Amino acid sequence: MYKNLAILGSTGSIGLQTLDVVRKLNLNVDALSAYSSIDILEEQTREFLPKLVVVYDETKAKEFKDKIKDLDIRVLSGMEGLIELTSLSSTDLVVNSLVGMVGLKPTLSAISFKKDIAFANKETLVAGGDLVMSAVKENKVKLLPVDSEHSAIFQCLEASPEKKALKKIILTASGGPFFDKTDEELKNVTLKDALNHPNWSMGNKITIDSATMMNKGLEIIEAVHLFDMPADSIDVVIHRESIIHSMIEFSDNSILAQLGCPDMRIPIQYAITYPERYESLVDEVDFYKLGKMTFYAPDFEKFKCLSACKKAIEIGGLLPCYANAANEVANKLFRDSEISFLDIGEIVSDTVNHFEYKKASDLKDVLDADMSAREYVKTII
Ligand code: MG
Repeated sequence: MYKNLAILGSTGSIGLQTLDVVRKLNLNVDALSAYSSIDILEEQTREFLPKLVVVYDETKAKEFKDKIKDLDIRVLSGMEGLIELTSLSSTDLVVNSLVGMVGLKPTLSAISFKKDIAFANKETLVAGGDLVMSAVKENKVKLLPVDSEHSAIFQCLEASPEKKALKKIILTASGGPFFDKTDEELKNVTLKDALNHPNWSMGNKITIDSATMMNKGLEIIEAVHLFDMPADSIDVVIHRESIIHSMIEFSDNSILAQLGCPDMRIPIQYAITYPERYESLVDEVDFYKLGKMTFYAPDFEKFKCLSACKKAIEIGGLLPCYANAANEVANKLFRDSEISFLDIGEIVSDTVNHFEYKKASDLKDVLDADMSAREYVKTII
């Protein structure tokens, strides 16, 4: 079990749930970071007394420093601060729960400092998967998946010594709040409708990604990188109850699945205690109450983000990076009520169709591609 944690994004949904696990297991917190939510961050700082706190926003960092001036704690800001957070000698696990590809540099930094990472920042792997995975191999660190589907696959693989026989990965998807809506109904869905996820309690960005099924598209790409599988060996099945978190199938058509209540504190805790297991804050599955589990095929035509992501990873190179950047912009525009729900899928597909294959040779290529996709979206909205 890891004992000393540095947490990137401690005031977000995964960050808060990580701290629940930290309390339960009585672990140390070396460092915390937030974008700008300094009130929650102050409470966390007073409770966990870390060595370092990073507030990404510079103005908020100054305000924060003032708030905790009675404590002897270092406060930093910006990307430099996040990089510093990944370098502390006492830290044995960096929890990356940042949202968006802003997490790419801190991830590469943590790897270069030989830190194992509990990884919940899928956009980073989508945008810079080739770079991240080759750095992971080179530095021999562990990238422990926190995303519930990838934790499930990881747990199934841990239970299976015969890796050669792995035939495919079956990613389950809740289908989100708009699973059974018609195209016509989707035209008029509101932000409030989209934020109303049936099973999972998550941050706003990922909840919208779940409604557009962009989230599942990102997770296909994440799985390609984490498990070194070709995109066409990853199937998606809609499973409305979110009890099966994903499955793996072998050459003899035998399938292993990981199940549990839909609560992120199970995969978060497993990443922290790996390979051991401890008592959980989460309830057992009550199969008598659950009664039945249902499965459906995903609708790739209705959910354009899903098909765009599939196309992007099949082409490879920087295409997933463009798709992710377009979605980060479109998702935000929808949350700001600047575009409609269906516009998100149009923008992501259009972007994937616009750009051509280019290899990602280094970090600069990825950052440039991210920027050019963001610029492109501005020209089409
Ligand atoms: Mg997930």
